[in-house]
Amino acid sequence: MGHDAPVAFFQSPPELGNQYTHDRVLRSYLSRVLGKEALASIEAELSELGELSGGELYRMQLADRQNEPRLVSWDPWGNRVDEIEITPLWKRAQVIAAEKGVVATGYEKKLGDRARVHQFALVYLFDGSTDVYTCPLAMTDGAAATLSHHGGKVAEHALAHLLSRDPKEMWTSGQWMTERTGGSDVGLSETVAKPMDDGSGRYRLYGTKWFTSATTSQMALTLGRPDGNPNGGKGLALFFVEVRDADGKMNGIQINRLKDKLGTRKVPTAELTLDGTIATPVAGHTDGIRQITPMLNVTRTWNSVCSLSAMRRSIALARDYATKRVQFGASLADKPLHTETLAGMQAELEAAFCFVFKGVELLGKLEAKTATPREITALRLFTPLMKLTTGKQAVAVVSEALECCGGAGYIEDTGLPRLLRDAQVLSIWEGTTNVLSLDSLRAIAKEGALAPFLAEMEAATNDVSPEVAPLAKAAMTAAGHAAAWLEKTFATDAQSVEAGARRFALTLGRSAELAYLSSHASWCLTNENDRRPLMAATRFLKNRVDFIEDESTDNRALAMDL
Ligand SMILES: Cc1cc2nc3c(=O)[nH]c(=O)nc-3n(C[C@H](O)[C@H](O)[C@H](O)COP(=O)(O)OP(=O)(O)OC[C@H]3O[C@@H](n4cnc5c(N)ncnc54)[C@H](O)[C@@H]3O)c2cc1C
Repeated sequence: MGHDAPVAFFQSPPELGNQYTHDRVLRSYLSRVLGKEALASIEAELSELGELSGGELYRMQLADRQNEPRLVSWDPWGNRVDEIEITPLWKRAQVIAAEKGVVATGYEKKLGDRARVHQFALVYLFDGSTDVYTCPLAMTDGAAATLSHHGGKVAEHALAHLLSRDPKEMWTSGQWMTERTGGSDVGLSETVAKPMDDGSGRYRLYGTKWFTSATTSQMALTLGRPDGNPNGGKGLALFFVEVRDADGKMNGIQINRLKDKLGTRKVPTAELTLDGTIATPVAGHTDGIRQITPMLNVTRTWNSVCSLSAMRRSIALARDYATKRVQFGASLADKPLHTETLAGMQAELEAAFCFVFKGVELLGKLEAKTATPREITALRLFTPLMKLTTGKQAVAVVSEALECCGGAGYIEDTGLPRLLRDAQVLSIWEGTTNVLSLDSLRAIAKEGALAPFLAEMEAATNDVSPEVAPLAKAAMTAAGHAAAWLEKTFATDAQSVEAGARRFALTLGRSAELAYLSSHASWCLTNENDRRPLMAATRFLKNRVDFIEDESTDNRALAMDL
């Protein structure tokens, strides 16, 4: 090129720094809830993981973009092997997860009843750069919680692996519930369980599991119907399955194919045939869906924290990009409308964060047996509300973040489109938005969870600083409107209660987000002289926290175009 050739422009890409030290929200929250001494005792590990997540793992993630898990059904000699080869990023994530105790920390209880806060801070930092390796970890944690709850020999054997920090010893677990008949209505499951006649008390399972993520796991918890049991959920039993025997042979399991999915492309999600799979009952021979509840509570909490992580990662990239991208004579970070957009996204994250981590605190207290009866009942409603509210927020915020990066946000090798594809599953698996809205109603009707839930919100907000008080009041008012609607409608019109369940649940979820953010904002004003959480709460209220009654629409006519 000659000397006079014009200098071409190349855009600098968005970059990440240490994902712990750069995260004001996480650090300020931990400093409030853990206090100086406890935080200092774990800060080095948080910072290390933050460094890995914004550095080595993030670079690996970009380089690993086009790799996908591969199913090898047969060996060269015609033997069926059903091996799944995972990608280099996942192999690295597997080692880091074990060594950093991303699951084990919740059980080691270094910080007593705040062990779950400690652990989920790690999850939040780890998730963003591991292409959903948190999926097998969530199920591993869920299995550990379920087996710890039920106890017994099988539990002892499995827990030693599930909670190991040695990558060679650590197992992950699958959760095989969904069949072709349904993932929401699991009671329709067709898998049958036939008792073995060797006196061992074990069964052989026959059936098809339609969505089994993390099929590389060493074990799974699954459901089957013992011979002679009735139809429906009650007739299902919860089983423990080891995927391979001591020689590495599959335990009567065939992997039919890996699913071709919109996102979570690194997660090997398979369809399985169980053909004589040896399985041990975990907790009796009936009521399997009820027995697996500890697992669902834990995996739904993971889902909520991973929704936070998706929002946080996409905002971090969009924010950095805003400092680097110049349009119309100034960087995007100096454009009032662009920063207004980013502020709205940040407000969503901060509100969601405060609500979800309050739920995490309660889970830790429940497990450490320090929770009050009111907290225990409130948690029953926290779990579905957190999951359904944040699943929706993650998709919206991540989608906005892609637009913040303009055309680059749509281009695969920037790594940005993956964020949106992976976020989309957060509202589907572990219970869809509607299914969890109905579950929230069940928690209220059967367990009386609404009053304790509102009382917890009230307690968190009743002595906030005067500047924050109107926001706290707005949160309580919106929740109160939703509660009043439910009370009125419950008494008169069951169909309308069901039709309004999602609006009700999202209003309650968003009200709680505003309440817990207000409470945190008040603490930040007093202790950190930081007004940003107050601004986030103010903005979050403008993003909408209200309950819209809608009784005039004929939903069926509109939905089905009748
Ligand atoms: C990537 C991926 C990985 C997965 N991994 C696993 C796994 O490892 N293990 C596992 O067990 N499952 C797994 N699943 C399955 C997942 O949990 C189910 O897809 C999910 O629970 C929904 O079930 P379904 O697909 O049968 O949908 P359906 O139950 O058929 O739901 C379809 C629609 O109907 C709505 N709906 C259902 N019931 C009601 C109702 N009563 N009122 C109003 N609306 C309703 C739902 O909200 C949804 O919008 C995975 C799914 C995906 C996408």
